[in-house]
Amino acid sequence: MAGRYEQLSCPFCDKGRISCLYFPSQWSVKTKRTKTLPGGGSVSKSAEVWLIQSGCRVCGKSAEEVEKELRKQSII
Ligand SMILES: [Zn+2]
Repeated sequence: MAGRYEQLSCPFCDKGRISCLYFPSQWSVKTKRTKTLPGGGSVSKSAEVWLIQSGCRVCGKSAEEVEKELRKQSII
């Protein structure tokens, strides 16, 4: 699966641009029947993934801090 580059605005100062790699969530269907799951076939969805590539150059927050704040605000 290929990711794509996205830019998010900084959650702290709203002026900086944060470079991210974004992988959209994907559906996968398991068709194999198992004894533990009668009825077989389950659909699972992988979570979307954001990889923060940079911190904020405007307010100086690190990539880790930016990622934590974006998750807290449910942006990613
Ligand atoms: Zn900032």
